[in-house]
Amino acid sequence: MFACGLSLFAVVSFLEEISKSIGACQNVVSDAKSAQKPPAPPGFLSISRKKLLQNLEINAGARVNAWVDSMRASSPTHIKSTPSIADDGGSWNLSHPSALEMFEQIIDASKGKQIVMFLDYDGTLSPIVADPDRAFMSKKMRKTVRKVAKCFPTAIVSGRCRDKVYNFVKLAELYYAGSHGMDIKGPEKLSKSNKDTELLFQPASEFLPMIDEVYRQLVETTKSTAGAKVENNKFCLSVHFRCVDEKKWSELAHQVKSVLKDYPKLRLTQGRKVLEIRPTIKWDKGKALEFLLESLGFANCTDVFPVYIGDDRTDEDAFKILRDRGQGFGILVSKFPKDTNASYSLQEPDEVMDFLRRLVEQKELSVDCKSSVENLIEL
Ligand SMILES: [Mg+2]
Repeated sequence: MFACGLSLFAVVSFLEEISKSIGACQNVVSDAKSAQKPPAPPGFLSISRKKLLQNLEINAGARVNAWVDSMRASSPTHIKSTPSIADDGGSWNLSHPSALEMFEQIIDASKGKQIVMFLDYDGTLSPIVADPDRAFMSKKMRKTVRKVAKCFPTAIVSGRCRDKVYNFVKLAELYYAGSHGMDIKGPEKLSKSNKDTELLFQPASEFLPMIDEVYRQLVETTKSTAGAKVENNKFCLSVHFRCVDEKKWSELAHQVKSVLKDYPKLRLTQGRKVLEIRPTIKWDKGKALEFLLESLGFANCTDVFPVYIGDDRTDEDAFKILRDRGQGFGILVSKFPKDTNASYSLQEPDEVMDFLRRLVEQKELSVDCKSSVENLIEL
């Protein structure tokens, strides 16, 4: 969703803060081990993302200060000091080349296999905007995604509530996995008689009353903090602080913590300018990807080629699944070098659209070729 993970500048600033207060965050950096390691290149994690995020989880006993440090690091005011892809001497580009530049190689790798497309929404199909309710996708992008869905099974995988992301995308022919994959629904059927075969999967449904309760409490508790916005994503909640004065971030972090302390079955993680609250169940975008592949009949297939495009830290779960399966690959949308399990990169939604268009063109070309050959045989 609009949360885009711990971006590079977040990581750099956060690590600076950690180094200042290492005694307070002993789980983050193993002092003895890290002292022996050469320093990580600028902008790269020298600690595991998992450990770092665990430190931000309220139930792991993290201090509010750690949240605020991370929130501060996500401030747009830090963007200017963030090294871009062009600034890192090309090493990130070498390890995560542009999917547009590598297009021919990608097509070669997918030959003879069924491509299945997985697309994040915010920051991937639509630009990140100040008001998350106005993160509209362009008409051109919608047209492109519609064409993609005609060529390949296509799913939107988002942190947003499924209904909300559907209202942005407005394409009935897609699969939708909302709430970080906790709310999955297949394409709408043309015939009502097929309704019993419709796909619907909600692994966290038992949490719905709790999520609603916490949503109401968070709205009430944070209303005194100007600019804070609590979003109910049905199976998870988002507290956006992109419009909150930096001086008020500590206050907001305290408010959120005060609500969550009574709900040990919910966990909190940090995204891009957002605090995310979700059930502690082991379900994420990666699990949703596996579930959808299985539902589509590709569970044990070797001739499937899943492609997942996303910009969010939560998309990393899906990138990792693809890497572990050795099938298809992930594409990270980012203008900055990041620690990622994706194989390729694209810098912004416009590049995503170009990549998708080329995939469609390639598919149409191969179908035309096939038809021509079949016509020749008939003659
Ligand atoms: Mg996103």
